[in-house]
Amino acid sequence: MTQAVSIFWFRRDLRLNDNRGLYQAFQSGRPVIPIFIFDSDILDNLEDNNDARVSFIHEAVNNIQRQLLAVGSTIDCRYGRPLDVFKALFKEYQVAEIFCNHDYEPYAQERDEEVMLLARQHGAVFNSFKDQVIFEKLEVAKDDGKPYTVFTPYSRKWKSKLASSDYEAYKTEKLLHQFLKQPARPIPSLKSMGFIPSALSFPSSDLDDELVRKYQQYRDLPAQSGTSRLGVHLRFGTVSIRELIRRSLLLSEVFLNELIWREFYQQILANFPQIGRGKSFKPAYDAIEWRNNESEFAAWCNGETGFPIIDAGIRELNHTGFMHNRVRMIVASFLSKDLLIDWRWGEAYFARKLLDYDFASNNGGWQWAAGSGCDAAPYFRVFNPQLQTLKFDKKFEYIRKWVPEFDQLTYVRPIVDHDFARKRCLQVYAKALDQFR
Ligand code: FAD
Repeated sequence: MTQAVSIFWFRRDLRLNDNRGLYQAFQSGRPVIPIFIFDSDILDNLEDNNDARVSFIHEAVNNIQRQLLAVGSTIDCRYGRPLDVFKALFKEYQVAEIFCNHDYEPYAQERDEEVMLLARQHGAVFNSFKDQVIFEKLEVAKDDGKPYTVFTPYSRKWKSKLASSDYEAYKTEKLLHQFLKQPARPIPSLKSMGFIPSALSFPSSDLDDELVRKYQQYRDLPAQSGTSRLGVHLRFGTVSIRELIRRSLLLSEVFLNELIWREFYQQILANFPQIGRGKSFKPAYDAIEWRNNESEFAAWCNGETGFPIIDAGIRELNHTGFMHNRVRMIVASFLSKDLLIDWRWGEAYFARKLLDYDFASNNGGWQWAAGSGCDAAPYFRVFNPQLQTLKFDKKFEYIRKWVPEFDQLTYVRPIVDHDFARKRCLQVYAKALDQFR
């Protein structure tokens, strides 16, 4: 093709509306070719051939395709290594510019660097924009310019900086005619990439105003549907963060705070890249002598620890790809503190199973629970599964749903005594941390 084009590369922003990078691609004035790459480097490393995230992405790309067909265009969707795909695209099109949105994960940063260099070799410009967060990197920093490592002052500064222009929508609806007109191109099937459709059902991307109004009241009760379930949509960009911020400003400050936690962990990853290399945020915690007992880990992964709230949480995760936040905290504390299993094992298990898996939030959540994180639970705070149950699942509704045998003789015996495990944890943690005092 001799006509110069702009490419818009969808990644974790799988929507046409209020998409900043896409909006910028339209501003280039050239026809825009929308592309999506099923990255073989990522897909080949997934353990489960029915991985629900792949099905979710496939559905989202098909949804974009339907909207593109309606304006006489098509998505150019390929399977392969991004660098190879771009080499092919440079042969097929006269690409003047590539547009996309920032992705802060370590692998994504390297990938984008490679594609940027390739673009440069071809005389094309690689443009990337902030889209998935309101504030990134050091945009919310301490007065001395350093990154925040504690949530409360971060959130205060975040709120004081927020102006309406930060959450204004990038209106793309009237610009869709700028997509290059092309006959429909097929989207690779799941089967052709070695996957089968997941049997899981995906939560809606609609935010229920009533739920957000009552969020504060019900969000900590796992038996209630009191949280938005938007995690997966935020992960893959099937909702816009700007829209959620607009709505939460009107409806609930507590909900807004949770969205700010997400940004807090994103900026931690961006400003402390060592956590992307498997390090504890607080180095002293890397001296802990983990027990790493494999059969206890297997019991935890299978929801057979004999602690009903732990087993309910893990079974919910294994069956639905979701686990309630309160229960995530309890199971993570149990693994790292009661069982003294390296929190990275749990982090990896969640990464495999969670539909809303996100490196920054998952790592943040695990390091919070293990005590090694930036603004973590103190090491001597070990959640008591029984007391947590009495507080958050008083009538055992959540437990009964996932562990119906919990009050019968057939239920497994607890794999550890909590009081004993708590004392053991304090000793082992103290031994490691004392070396650094
Ligand atoms: P809601 O309660 O409706 O909150 C709305 C949105 O705010 C969420 O979708 C999420 O984007 C954000 N949010 C809420 N709580 C947090 C939080 N504590 N930290 C960061 N963002 C938050 N969240 C992920 O998105 N991906 C993960 O991989 C992940 N792993 C976690 C691991 C552990 C050990 C823990 C303790 C927490 C983890 N979280 C993770 C945070 C939180 O549990 C989920 O975001 C939340 O449960 C998702 O459900 P929801 O969409 O109904 O959330």
